[in-house]
Amino acid sequence: MRFTLLTLFPEPIDAYFASSIMARAVQKGLVQYRCVNIRDFALDTHRTCDDAPYGGGAGMVLKAEPLAAALDSVGAAGLHTIYPTPAGRSLTTALVEQLGAHEELVLICGRYEGIDQRVIDLYVDDEISIGDYVLSSGELAALVIVDVLYRHLDGVITRESLQEESFQDGLLEYPHYTRPEVFRSRGVPEVLLSGHHERIREWRTQQRIDKTRRARPDLYEAWLSRSAPDGKE
Ligand code: SAM
Repeated sequence: MRFTLLTLFPEPIDAYFASSIMARAVQKGLVQYRCVNIRDFALDTHRTCDDAPYGGGAGMVLKAEPLAAALDSVGAAGLHTIYPTPAGRSLTTALVEQLGAHEELVLICGRYEGIDQRVIDLYVDDEISIGDYVLSSGELAALVIVDVLYRHLDGVITRESLQEESFQDGLLEYPHYTRPEVFRSRGVPEVLLSGHHERIREWRTQQRIDKTRRARPDLYEAWLSRSAPDGKE
């Protein structure tokens, strides 16, 4: 899968693609990425990319000309182009699956109060929010979208790891333990030391249900009505 990110601050993007599991995916050729500095397309000697909003109000707006020129340079008109913004539709597992069908995605990292609406109208296919809060810039949001997508590519993470994660079957994940067996007087639940696979499986399922009920009553209610329409677990 290929990701093209347009940003005024390439450093965090480059650092992310050079780290850990992503670095290995890039090395193996499972992921390709381009990071384009929007400032390289500014029109004046000061390399200005922001200006005051028409109509007044707080903050600045990312100008249309440099951003449009950066988008043209990567052929964005023919590619699925995303603008991560709090004003977009929510990033969900279902949306992640849809986005995963694209061979290549272009992501615009916003700054200031946001980008000129005319760029959205002309180039953007999808406005996506990563949550109901406001970040100071779009780099983290764009990388969240990249991260949630690339880890599902064949060869990045084992199928088994992906199958046992939170949100699979509508439940959160069960707790994990590793050595030592006792840590600050706290032991590992007996069942995990039993070697009895069926009992371990049952314990983990019950833990997932209990955790979901406590942490995410909304998910729990939805799971309950799907798995036991009469209200019994
Ligand atoms: N004025 C905007 C608003 O109220 O919706 C917020 C702008 S924010 C300070 C700057 C940039 O961060 C945005 O253009 C967007 O690219 C990014 N951003 C902030 N919060 C985000 C979120 N929840 N989801 C996706 N992108 C976000």
